[in-house]
Amino acid sequence: MTISIQENVPLAPLTTFKIGGPAKYFVDVRTEDEMREAILWAKGKEIAFVILSGGSNILVPDKGLNKLVIHMTKGAFAISERVLEADAGCNLLELIRAASEKNLGGWEKLAGIPGTIGGAMRGNAGAFGTEIKDFPIKVRALNSATAEIREFPNAGCDFSYRHSFFKDNPEWIITNVAIELRGVDSSDGSRLIEETIAEREKRHLQNVRAAGSYFMNPVVSREVQELFETDQNQKSRENRVPAGWLIDKAGMKGVKIGGAIASLQHPNYIVNEGGATAREVKQLAEDIKKAVEVKFGVQLKEEAVILS
Ligand SMILES: Cc1cc2nc3c(=O)[nH]c(=O)nc-3n(C[C@H](O)[C@H](O)[C@H](O)COP(=O)(O)OP(=O)(O)OC[C@H]3O[C@@H](n4cnc5c(N)ncnc54)[C@H](O)[C@@H]3O)c2cc1C
Repeated sequence: MTISIQENVPLAPLTTFKIGGPAKYFVDVRTEDEMREAILWAKGKEIAFVILSGGSNILVPDKGLNKLVIHMTKGAFAISERVLEADAGCNLLELIRAASEKNLGGWEKLAGIPGTIGGAMRGNAGAFGTEIKDFPIKVRALNSATAEIREFPNAGCDFSYRHSFFKDNPEWIITNVAIELRGVDSSDGSRLIEETIAEREKRHLQNVRAAGSYFMNPVVSREVQELFETDQNQKSRENRVPAGWLIDKAGMKGVKIGGAIASLQHPNYIVNEGGATAREVKQLAEDIKKAVEVKFGVQLKEEAVILS
């Protein structure tokens, strides 16, 4: 066995929320083979397992997880011609920077989204009008129920706004991704990367104890879209309005429960101001959902993954 199972490992430091108790069992995996081994170990012991990658879109319960936490961590990547192939646990920003050094890019606006390339594929991560769905040519995944390995072409990934086939079918674990990039001048690429990160910092989108957008931007009625368009002098897109705008207008911006606050800069970020518990975050999320439903008749749905 090449993997090493640990016990009672604190999970809060492995999440951007910095919240939650320990994992009863825990293992770091880098490769598909190690992933398969970890799953077999859990099955052999009849223990449930959960995948944790960059921990930037996840809330761990206060009592921890009585499961095997399979932590996908930094694997290998290679660049050949215009194709970057990476193990799923590779950090997204590191890949964007490495590609840029080889004069490849097109995805610089994704720079600064925390987490791994695998996590980004699962949720079709996006920022500033760019989404990761436009880059993969092949996503390799392991079916944790049947042990089947399959390579999905882009069209088979069913990507849409913050959605993919893998989100609907969590038994498929992404193990490796091949991305096709375009030729860019490396100094232009690295300038765009740094500008994007600076813009995120300016907008307080970075370095906060949160899970990014807590709720998805919902599809709403034409009436609510018009309220948004008039208020913001901006068109709604794909019949959606920003959850942060709904939360603000429902009077929930800045509302706190314990150490958890609906951010003053981005009300759709629930931020751990220090010492927040998962219980407080979830209670605040429930209060936000109720307020938005009462005000607009809109039901918010979590984008962050709430583990139990
Ligand atoms: C400060 C901040 C800013 C953010 N800004 C953005 C943004 O601009 N745009 C955006 O889209 N998101 C943003 N996010 C959210 C988050 O960074 C993304 O959702 C990210 O892609 C999650 O990747 P991860 O590796 O951290 O996944 P994790 O949080 O570890 O996991 C999230 C879910 O994906 C599953 N998962 C993880 N890896 C795999 C895999 N290899 N195969 C199958 N399932 C897997 C996990 O089981 C879990 O259910 C932000 C988050 C923070 C904290």
